[in-house]
Amino acid sequence: MAMTVVEDWLNACSGCEISILNIGDALVDILPKLEFLHMTALIDHKFFGQVGDGTVMEIPEADIGIVTGGVRNEEHKHELEEIRKKTKFLIALGSCACYGGVPAQANMWKNEDVFEKVFRNCASTEPAPDPVDPSVPKWTPTCAALDEIVKVDISIPGCPPHPDWIADALTALLEGKTSWTLPERSVCDTCPVIREKKSGGGPVKRWIQNIDFNPEEGIDKMRCINEQGFLCMGPVTLAGCAGKSGVPRCIQARTPCRGCFGPIRKGSQPMVDMMGALSSVGLEAKSVLDRRAMMNRYIGGHGFLRPLPARPVR
Ligand code: SF4
Ligand code: SF4
Ligand code: SF4
Repeated sequence: MAMTVVEDWLNACSGCEISILNIGDALVDILPKLEFLHMTALIDHKFFGQVGDGTVMEIPEADIGIVTGGVRNEEHKHELEEIRKKTKFLIALGSCACYGGVPAQANMWKNEDVFEKVFRNCASTEPAPDPVDPSVPKWTPTCAALDEIVKVDISIPGCPPHPDWIADALTALLEGKTSWTLPERSVCDTCPVIREKKSGGGPVKRWIQNIDFNPEEGIDKMRCINEQGFLCMGPVTLAGCAGKSGVPRCIQARTPCRGCFGPIRKGSQPMVDMMGALSSVGLEAKSVLDRRAMMNRYIGGHGFLRPLPARPVR
């Protein structure tokens, strides 16, 4: 018998939904066993405000809930809580849902300061008062990951998540399993570059210089990006972005890992660990500009990013 699915996006960009479509051949096998009852990306289902005139949220009961995006406002929170109530297994899909994602960089400032800078006093926008329309949902205190609000059963990180893992997790549920997780390995563990455990030392280089590689040669002939003196988040980032096999996606493109799969394990401190990794190859870890933002780029939920008293709004 098919499992029923409710899928919805909250503070999301739709890249995670594209990853569902990108499952490819495996989707052909899985789809007959799934019955999608609700998917906002396919059928725009507005609940309140704008052209949605509802007073309650009509989420159908289902076996599986898949939610992308973090929680940025009260409507997202309400929607997430409704989906949690109506589904047996909740999947947080993508790094916004698992960790807050890039939008959670805003957690470095108080909401009032963000409104002041971005909405009320932006150089490219006419100043305007705050909207008074009650259908505009209020912001939540922070941009949160789903598991800060409700219990999450399965987390599939990545920005975007790799289609292989979406298929894998759904297959696990279809086979009667109740959990699924990626193995605890780092991006470095799956990276074939040459490593000598030392760099040239000095400050971490900025991206106004190119890394050194020969485009005619394979990745296994390229020197580690950290050891070349640049910031690569591979040592502290969960492996999996290449799917079940292959070279990490950014490294394939000869660019550094930015940390989009999030921490290797729950409870780790990626910024502290990354500072240690840079120091271990002889680089001056404290020279990384705006390192709180750079080293928590996708994981600003869970209190990783919060306002500091001395931080000015720029
Ligand atoms: S995780 Fe990435 S792809 Fe998915 S909603 Fe967030 S920004 Fe978009
Ligand atoms: S630091 Fe970056 S380039 Fe070096 S091994 Fe790790 S992922 Fe590869
Ligand atoms: S290399 Fe890092 S930033 Fe790039 S896709 Fe993989 S995990 Fe994400």
